[in-house]
Amino acid sequence: MRAEDVLCPTPAGLYSKAGDFHIDPTRPVPRALITHGHADHARPGHGSVLATHETLRIMASRYGEDFAGASHTAVLGETARIGDAAVTFQPAGHVLGSAQILVEADGLRIVASGDYKRRADPTCLPFVPIPCDIFITEATFGLPVFRHPEPEDEIAKLLASLDQFPERAHLVGAYSLGKAQRVIRLLRDAGYDRTIYLHGAMEKLCRLYEEEGVALGDLASATVETGKKGDFAGSVVVCPPAQIAERWARRFPDPVACFASGWMRIRQRAKASGVELPLILSDHGDWDELTATITELAPAEVWVTHGREEALVRWCELQGIAARPLHMVGYEDEAEE
Ligand SMILES: [Zn+2]
Repeated sequence: MRAEDVLCPTPAGLYSKAGDFHIDPTRPVPRALITHGHADHARPGHGSVLATHETLRIMASRYGEDFAGASHTAVLGETARIGDAAVTFQPAGHVLGSAQILVEADGLRIVASGDYKRRADPTCLPFVPIPCDIFITEATFGLPVFRHPEPEDEIAKLLASLDQFPERAHLVGAYSLGKAQRVIRLLRDAGYDRTIYLHGAMEKLCRLYEEEGVALGDLASATVETGKKGDFAGSVVVCPPAQIAERWARRFPDPVACFASGWMRIRQRAKASGVELPLILSDHGDWDELTATITELAPAEVWVTHGREEALVRWCELQGIAARPLHMVGYEDEAEE
């Protein structure tokens, strides 16, 4: 069997002819395997979905219980047979419930890793290296300029600012799935035990994380209808990134606009979006994590997708590893980082 029969890129996403299924399809398909709940990977309207318990819950929370014709739970580490393929889900370390998918057919092993990172994250299971012939890697931060600092140091910056400006509210822009909960958990781990306030768009997923065993401490809704502006002095308010520059932000006392994202590594971008305190915090591997992962797995071949494909392909070739860019469209590297 050729690799292309096990998995190959198509306009609808990665397709397995051996198993007649798609991985993270970008349009409705009869049978979808989903790596994680971010909107560009997990879309509604498929005939059936196979994903981890947490990812299925996230999809139901975002799209409603009828997000697919049928849903099936993938148990991490257990192999299921689909047509002529065998599939196994293993943790990807990206967000709660995120998984890599190993597809095996005719002795050939291909790993579709979805989005992943290698740094410790208290809100999800760590990435599990899976020996394989072909490793499909993301390349969101696939340039040597991207080297993420330690998350604890970024959180320390936020805590220092809270100390320095006790009269100002700190609005932390963070994506609602993964980043928001990670920021909150990191604050707790750093000893911050005050109430953290949430924009309405964060509430459902924070509750879901807590129900799945990720303790987030004392949370409250960031509504001012019942209180005074001054109530939020010195508080942390977590909100969608787009809100930090919006009218919504003006209800808080002299807000400090913070944004937790790997993109904050680019200073001009932080400046352009009106961010006063950029926090470089990413749920994707940086250049060192991507290259270290490929070195560790030592696959015969690497396929590179979404992001800066060419630099990572070139790096692989210099290491003597065959590599190709997949040029798949429909995966946003900024919508939900
Ligand atoms: Zn993602």
